[in-house]
Amino acid sequence: MIKILIVEDEKPIANLIDWNLTGCGYHCECVYDGREAADRIEENEYDLILLDIMLPGVDGFELMEQIRPTRTPVIFITARGAVEDRVKGLRAGADDYLVKPFEIVELTARVESVLRRAGKTQERYEIGDVVIEPRSMTVTKGGEPVTLTYKEYELLLLFLRNRGIALYRETIYQRVWGGEMDPDTRTLDLHVQRLRKKLGWQKQLVSIYKVGYRLEG
Ligand code: CA
Repeated sequence: MIKILIVEDEKPIANLIDWNLTGCGYHCECVYDGREAADRIEENEYDLILLDIMLPGVDGFELMEQIRPTRTPVIFITARGAVEDRVKGLRAGADDYLVKPFEIVELTARVESVLRRAGKTQERYEIGDVVIEPRSMTVTKGGEPVTLTYKEYELLLLFLRNRGIALYRETIYQRVWGGEMDPDTRTLDLHVQRLRKKLGWQKQLVSIYKVGYRLEG
């Protein structure tokens, strides 16, 4: 299981990240101050560290000095969106940068992409009798292969990476098709219907009235 350390002194934010990433199938640990983070990093190995910059005790840049030799991928999380900080963060060796406040889909997409670049992608998702293996891009139901179009597959991955999270129609559309969604288009709904049918997910892919969709399970 992919192990993620969340270093963030604002507990509600740390817990929100924890809750969402745990729902996506990652193993998460939270620490709320820099010194404790330094100890954890010393004693454990992580696949990814989400690192706040402004922290009591030891700040994110100092922690980065400690993390760098371990080659653990890092995503900086900070409220400061200033260009200097961004540049400094990336120079310090962070793999990506997330500015608070951020949308959860933004977080999960960045986590997934940094893990993918580090060769640490989630190998397998399982919901009921449906198994998805992103490395080989295979989907099976009850052991039988399911054929999906590329867009159906992209949509499926977006739902898997955001399990239990309500996704706005506009957000889904932007992520999968790119660009603004024409309010009259039925493209998204038709793709969801086809996924439901192909995977037997009538109950799992929940429509949320006036919002969008959520994958449960
Ligand atoms: Ca902070």
